[in-house]
Amino acid sequence: MAVSLSVYCDCHQTLRALSGDMDHSAHPSGLLEASDVGSQKERVVTEEEWLEKWEMGNIGFHKEEGHPLLQKYLDVLLNGRSGLRIFFPLCGKAVEMKWLADMGHSVVGVEISEQAVKDFFSEHSLPYCEEPVPEISGAKLFQSTSGNISLYCCSIYDLSSSIVGKFDGVWDRGALVAVNPCDRQRYASLMISLVEKNSSYLLVTVSYDPNKHKGPPFYVPESEIKSLFGNCCEIRCLEKVDGFSERHKQWGLDYFLEPLQVDAVCLAFCNSASPTGSPGSVAAAVQTLFMGHWLRTRLGREVGRCCKLVLSIPVNICQVKSCQ
Ligand code: SAH
Repeated sequence: MAVSLSVYCDCHQTLRALSGDMDHSAHPSGLLEASDVGSQKERVVTEEEWLEKWEMGNIGFHKEEGHPLLQKYLDVLLNGRSGLRIFFPLCGKAVEMKWLADMGHSVVGVEISEQAVKDFFSEHSLPYCEEPVPEISGAKLFQSTSGNISLYCCSIYDLSSSIVGKFDGVWDRGALVAVNPCDRQRYASLMISLVEKNSSYLLVTVSYDPNKHKGPPFYVPESEIKSLFGNCCEIRCLEKVDGFSERHKQWGLDYFLEPLQVDAVCLAFCNSASPTGSPGSVAAAVQTLFMGHWLRTRLGREVGRCCKLVLSIPVNICQVKSCQ
């Protein structure tokens, strides 16, 4: 039995997602929650196209200043812990890697573009060394001389926990939304295999009308996030931010949101496969009650602080539930 705690900031939305409702009824935020990603479903961006974007300097996704949502929710990612191993899937030259390394964490990224990886080190004046990865043909590992930033230059699908180990935290911005829609399941399964129990996964997704822009970034409906990660993760929405800019206007969009999602991965006892009724499950139930109390106190405060402002929805539903 896997036990998980869920804090839902919007019960209507959750119920609609769980019941597989595919309609485009009004979202409580006033926007459409379009579950139909129609025109984007078949779209494939090849590795060569990504490399070309880097060569041409067509990297509007890169944030020179870093992402304000990571600053804002750093506490959620770290959860009071220090010296973490933090993973940056599809990392580009994200400056947030430097932030976290400077705080004493160990950062691992993966990126297909060697130019992006080299730019990262040179733009931060970080000396590095470069070596092949014996397990992956053609892959290279770039490591800062200080040893706390390791960037794998290869496809993320070549990685496994036996090569990179497991992580305590994940910053997923511009990653799930950059993955081709047909590869999402594979990506999510890989990510789940790369995280430790009690890890904290911050996922930034974007919300817009997928008929007006072909992506990337792709629109990933909340219902899909639940089906990708929901089996062994609890997902709660921290905030929906209006990230609308001139760039998005040029895409022909009317709105653009960047919801920040947290998967409190395996927070309680996921993977502790005690059959119901066994002494293990009694112990798990006791622990669950304890965790429930602790989480209600702690997460209730956090979620309340994060969500009320933007969603205007009371965030006081907290339940401990078991799932298969
Ligand atoms: N997360 C970064 C970059 C987002 S753009 C940021 O926030 O700035 C997506 C990045 O994924 C691009 O840099 C692209 O080169 C890289 N990428 C695309 N497919 C990949 C793959 N299969 N494996 C590793 N990196 C990939």
